[in-house]
Amino acid sequence: MARYTGASCKKCRREGQKLFLKGERCNTGKCAIERRAYAPGQHGKNKAKLSEYGLQLRAKQKTKVYYGVSEAQFVKYYEEAFRREGVTSDILFGLLETRLDNVCYRLGLGSSRRESRQLVGYEMVTVNGKKVNIPSYQLRVGDVVAIRDEKKDNTTVKAMIENIKAKNVPAWLEVDKEKLTAKVIRIPARADVDLEVAENLIIELYSKN
Ligand code: SF4
Repeated sequence: MARYTGASCKKCRREGQKLFLKGERCNTGKCAIERRAYAPGQHGKNKAKLSEYGLQLRAKQKTKVYYGVSEAQFVKYYEEAFRREGVTSDILFGLLETRLDNVCYRLGLGSSRRESRQLVGYEMVTVNGKKVNIPSYQLRVGDVVAIRDEKKDNTTVKAMIENIKAKNVPAWLEVDKEKLTAKVIRIPARADVDLEVAENLIIELYSKN
């Protein structure tokens, strides 16, 4: 199934929560959630009580939109998480967080995951010294992400470099602010992710199928 490309703010309003899809705008008073904190559409203000299935579906949709992955990709992540030994929700969020585009976003390389995905596509970064332009590239413990030397003079990149220097990055990434590199020191778990979602509902949804 193709990725849903409707207006970003509507997706947040549908979930009733900021999902930070639009970069800088999300932290300003222009954020649609700040102005219209109800679902889009004619009946958006009438909050209907959701069925169990509806709640599960919304939890999955919210997580999918947050990371900007397609339905097919999300199902693959779930299947992989389910196949591995351990807590499925921890593994699921670990896989989503260690996508290369998400790691770039966490570092401040891009003001939204969408922008980070574009930067990866523009061959802005390397992994372990090798150029990688696949946003879904799965990072492992010990992998080192860096900005390519050839790109460091670009004005936009220079601003992002300042961002990295100022940003508080997650504890599972070790940043060298001099060398401008970031190393994955452990795989994050659900508790490392600041998204408000009942992960058990996602697991329940897929475990029925
Ligand atoms: Fe969501 Fe950002 Fe739009 Fe606010 S501005 S509704 S956080 S995408």
